[in-house]
Amino acid sequence: MEQIFDVIVVGGGHAGCEAAAASARMGAKTALVTHRRDTIGIMSCNPAIGGLGKGHLVREIDALDGIMGRIADMSGIQFRMLNASKGAAVRGPRTQTDRKLYRDAMQDELFNNTPNLTIVEGGVDDLIMDETTAKGVIMADGTRVHAPATIITTGTFLRGIIHRGMEQKPAGRVGEGAAVKLGETLERLKLPLGRLKTGTPARLDGKTIDWAVLEEQHADQTPVPFSYLNDTITVPQIACHMTFTTPETHAIILANKDQAPIYSGQIQGSGPRYCPSIEDKVVRFADKDRHQIFLEPEGLDDDTVYPNGISTSLAPDVQDAMLKTIKGLESARVIEYGYAIEYDYVDPRALKNTLETKAISGLYLAGQINGTTGYEEAAAQGLMAGLNAARHTSDEIYTLDRADAYIGVLIDDLITRGAPEPYRMFTSRAEYRLLLRSDNADQRLTDKGIEWGCVGAYRQSQWADKKSQLDDARDLTQRLSASPNELEKHGIAVNKDGKRRNVSEILNYKSVNWDQLESIWPELSNIAPNIREQIEIDATYAGYIDRQMADIAAYRKDENLLIPDTLRYADIGSLSNEVRQKLEMARPETLGAAARIPGVTPAAVIALLRHVKRKDAA
Ligand code: FAD
Repeated sequence: MEQIFDVIVVGGGHAGCEAAAASARMGAKTALVTHRRDTIGIMSCNPAIGGLGKGHLVREIDALDGIMGRIADMSGIQFRMLNASKGAAVRGPRTQTDRKLYRDAMQDELFNNTPNLTIVEGGVDDLIMDETTAKGVIMADGTRVHAPATIITTGTFLRGIIHRGMEQKPAGRVGEGAAVKLGETLERLKLPLGRLKTGTPARLDGKTIDWAVLEEQHADQTPVPFSYLNDTITVPQIACHMTFTTPETHAIILANKDQAPIYSGQIQGSGPRYCPSIEDKVVRFADKDRHQIFLEPEGLDDDTVYPNGISTSLAPDVQDAMLKTIKGLESARVIEYGYAIEYDYVDPRALKNTLETKAISGLYLAGQINGTTGYEEAAAQGLMAGLNAARHTSDEIYTLDRADAYIGVLIDDLITRGAPEPYRMFTSRAEYRLLLRSDNADQRLTDKGIEWGCVGAYRQSQWADKKSQLDDARDLTQRLSASPNELEKHGIAVNKDGKRRNVSEILNYKSVNWDQLESIWPELSNIAPNIREQIEIDATYAGYIDRQMADIAAYRKDENLLIPDTLRYADIGSLSNEVRQKLEMARPETLGAAARIPGVTPAAVIALLRHVKRKDAA
């Protein structure tokens, strides 16, 4: 059997779903080829979307008309704005999700609401190659599917091995086979492969947990949706509970440490630094006598509970013994034991900023295969790979830089620094985070998305409406002004310098709130709450943002200096061997990217700049 498409996406996880949806939105005839139709959109690990840095990614995906935010809004059962008491720049929208609702909503979106998309069920073993160009895929049953662009998004499946105590077996995640042949294909094609690992905790039967003795954590009173298209959340919101490991738990872990695959030498790959297993936490933070566990229900009509914080690959009998030492879990029944998984990934320095591989034309990679961990990081890459793959046969490319979006930070970090350990997003990774806020992703990206052709008509009209409301409100808050004496009459104290201040300037004073200003200018009450929030945040950050804009202008100057991909680093005599090797490995596309490679010195950057300029002039 032969089939022909514009784009093939391999894998129906978070990267694959977003890639397929983006490619189809761009009008490309797209095939999503995945092991099983019924596992599309499944969450392999924690039932949650968003969080610090990750929530920003979801909002950015949404601003480009991606699907993750809307699906999370349809399935979120405990919305919380993390860091709500801190500045807007570091607030992170997050929700616990109902696993089934998420999967079903994702499948409905892809099966019924995505024109141009065909789902093909089955495993991909090989690529159709024409010298160094990928022309499609060969499936396990021999079916050949042709397309000028293929995106591989195989997550933890590439030669995956599950570890539980001393037991190990090949698998992509529990209950699903590994992608062994495709791993061999990528090795044959000489893509730089490495091994990483991640892990998951046991799943517990909620009916056997003693909830009465545990502390509750509630959802926010007013859940804030991820998607700019939604005003409210209609899914019922639930509480989760908290408990802690104990010194007894730690003693059991330490007594069995030798049988823990990460310490016995059985696992070679690096694990996620920011999401370590409980055995890792107990060893690394030996001075702590307890670690927090959030008991997160996996669904509204599901008794399964995900104990967030105790991911482990210890043997089942040790997991049972550990649970008995934890308050509330003394009689908990395990539905599925925790495990670690080790898998192949491709060093992302082998990628261009479009996520196409440098060595193989038409082959794009997105998601965990590029060394990231997390649904949101996967989806963000899927989106960008999907957009670029859809235009593979044209000259157009779609990229975001570090000053545009967290998506830009993510991709730049991956392609310049690689992923020696699983990479997850944090707000601290973004240097321009006062601008890259989760509240303003639509203002940063939706016009760009419209220009690229990935934003549908409904969002375009919603955005046009919001933009005009924002313009009107900004205009009004610039126009309305008062002198210090006039403000004093309303109980607002500012410097008595005789200078009239407009609403935005007055809002910059921490002691002033919007309600006070409405009592002076009643017309301000006509501004919708979401627009008002923007005006308030803009006012708070006003001075800082001007400074950040100046930094961004300097950054973009270096980003605009392109390094030809034919450049021979050996020709630059003043580079040390170490720096030369680093540059050869990453082959940065711009001078800015070269400067961000760890170990590339300022002197090396100047030598590179001179060399490129000399070549340009020649
Ligand atoms: P996945 O969601 O894994 O999807 C891969 C898809 O590709 C699947 O649909 C699969 O069937 C398909 N596929 C694979 N090979 C082939 C093939 N050859 N042919 C056809 N289809 C194929 N993330 C965190 O943020 N924190 C954690 O603590 C964490 N722990 C994890 C623990 C475990 C045990 C696992 C398995 C994952 C964990 N994750 C964690 C990671 C999270 O699940 C992934 O980051 C996310 O799912 C990656 O999305 P993806 O789209 O890249 O891949």
